[in-house]
Amino acid sequence: MLLFTHAKCLEHEMTPGHPERPDRLLAVLEHLEATGLMSELEVREPTAADTTTLAQIHRIDYLQTLTQLAPERGLVALDPDTAIGPPSLHAAALAAGAVADAVQAVLKGEARRAFCAVRPPGHHAEAGGAMGFCIYNNVALGAVTALADPGVTHVAILDFDVHHGNGTVDIFKDRPEVLVCSSFQHPFYPHRYTDIDRGNIVNTPLPAGTSGAAFRAAIERDWLSALERHRPQLILVSAGFDAHRLDPLAQLELEEADFRWITELIVDQAEAYAAGRVVSTLEGGYDLVALAQSATAHTAALMGN
Ligand SMILES: [Zn+2]
Repeated sequence: MLLFTHAKCLEHEMTPGHPERPDRLLAVLEHLEATGLMSELEVREPTAADTTTLAQIHRIDYLQTLTQLAPERGLVALDPDTAIGPPSLHAAALAAGAVADAVQAVLKGEARRAFCAVRPPGHHAEAGGAMGFCIYNNVALGAVTALADPGVTHVAILDFDVHHGNGTVDIFKDRPEVLVCSSFQHPFYPHRYTDIDRGNIVNTPLPAGTSGAAFRAAIERDWLSALERHRPQLILVSAGFDAHRLDPLAQLELEEADFRWITELIVDQAEAYAAGRVVSTLEGGYDLVALAQSATAHTAALMGN
């Protein structure tokens, strides 16, 4: 299995004390190392996605605005929660490029599964704007990269981050070849697209306090029939770990075992429809210990351990 990551993803920093901080990625990488999993992974450095590539998912005026705003020093705010400094756009282009590279490698048969340990995250970034710590929609770039392959007509994006994947929905709401399933605490940030009615968008809202057992039942109820109808040839995953009960930003009650469970379910679904092919990318998760342990459980389950 492939692991895509890049040291430059650690250089993007927002305001002091911001929860989406470099230590998140370090915690994941250090735990993969400490548990011995890292030595079983083939680690690759991604290439940065360029403007032409990103224009498949983002409006060109948004991409141009980002380039104009990128500062030589200090920070520029893109929204109340998201800012860019001098290294940020390159880090974001590597994070998006990682998912695109991972998809290409998996479609070429170099591996069946890949995890992209990258930041900034991506699933809140809409076609025309940054939002919620996200600059480019990394998983969306993976989906369009897959669909550029003539052998791929249907893909699915499964998003179990505690926040709704509004950016991914925004980008694919009129592209029925992409199934987007998102579970999320509700009502909760980002309060967008939760009432959308499209056959390819499956929303699974969960009240604050939802247990692991209730989460599992909701996923089985909503996602399995949608996957059976869609029959994706590749499954992409927005892997956020902020639904963990220790997470400081949200109020769901999942544990490491629930992230292992959903990953095993995703692998089973990929075996049924997609020749086992799964490309996952890191989204949220803000308690460093819970994040590191949950992301490692996710990786181990993707590896089949
Ligand atoms: Zn989140």
